Amino acid sequence: MSLDNKLGLDRFNIDQHNPHITINDGYDNKEKINLLVMACPAGLYQYENGKLSFNHEGCLECGTCRVLSKGRVVKSWSYPVGGKGIEFTQG
Ligand code: SF4
Repeated sequence: MSLDNKLGLDRFNIDQHNPHITINDGYDNKEKINLLVMACPAGLYQYENGKLSFNHEGCLECGTCRVLSKGRVVKSWSYPVGGKGIEFTQG
């Protein structure tokens, strides 16, 4: 089974009112932003026309963006509150 198919089996319980990751959308170091865009396995960071956008829905809670960019692009990072976030079905 491909990785995309495995990820498609996972379930998300999105916390619409309390995103577990927030970003500094005024951050303008393109090199650091592009690193984050390439590193997020879920493709949640988008950088188009000089504008960074992020959507916490679909986050795999891998922590890559926290390690790469906490205090720069990533303003805050925490796990979702209990019962929210991703529920892996393949371990
Ligand atoms: Fe992407 Fe992982 Fe950060 Fe979630 S924790 S936004 S999947 S890099």
